[in-house]
Amino acid sequence: MPDRVQCGNGTGSASVLNGRRGAIRVPARSSLQGGPLIPASSLPLLFIDVDGPLNPFERPFPGPKGYTSHRMKPDSWLRAHPGTPPARVPPLTVRLDPAHGPQLLELPMEPVWATTWEHDANTWIGPHLGLPELPVVPWSSPRTPDPSGLHWKTRELSAWAGERPFAWIDDEPGQSDREWLDQHHPAHVLLLRIDASRGLAGEDFALLREWAEQTRAA
Ligand SMILES: [Mg+2]
Repeated sequence: MPDRVQCGNGTGSASVLNGRRGAIRVPARSSLQGGPLIPASSLPLLFIDVDGPLNPFERPFPGPKGYTSHRMKPDSWLRAHPGTPPARVPPLTVRLDPAHGPQLLELPMEPVWATTWEHDANTWIGPHLGLPELPVVPWSSPRTPDPSGLHWKTRELSAWAGERPFAWIDDEPGQSDREWLDQHHPAHVLLLRIDASRGLAGEDFALLREWAEQTRAA
């Protein structure tokens, strides 16, 4: 089920949460860019949350410049309203910036959906951004509180990544997640927390690129 769309006040900023750097060499270009074909598996992963980074749901309407509004009833949203005819389920209002798709694809990373939208992200979000179908992290039990107080995605993302370095853009995880990943994930991790009242911005893409290139050189 996608996160609820809400309105709020204020303009937030991104928080950078760096993990240790692994000695993994990464090619400069992704095959997604149309450049030299390089196996995506040799690139750092980029785990992408939808609500917050791509859909700044806490930003007051009409929303930031460049964004367009979309009303959606993804399957996961309909399933969250059992017994209600689909026509009577209120749609989600999602704001997206079509420039984000090309910016994500230009990064020397392998993008992966890491969102409660799961496969609905490929159907309802990606096409508005010009993204191809991306891999999806399947959650074993989404939103189930972690007994150690970690974000519920943290352990699953580390397990899904295996030995690979990854960056994670999300509006929810915090310092305890960074510390856990630093101690337990075997490769370099960048946790970039994106304020849901701001969404992804140019400096975030610059930072992701810098991190990916540093990881390649490590
Ligand atoms: Mg989110």
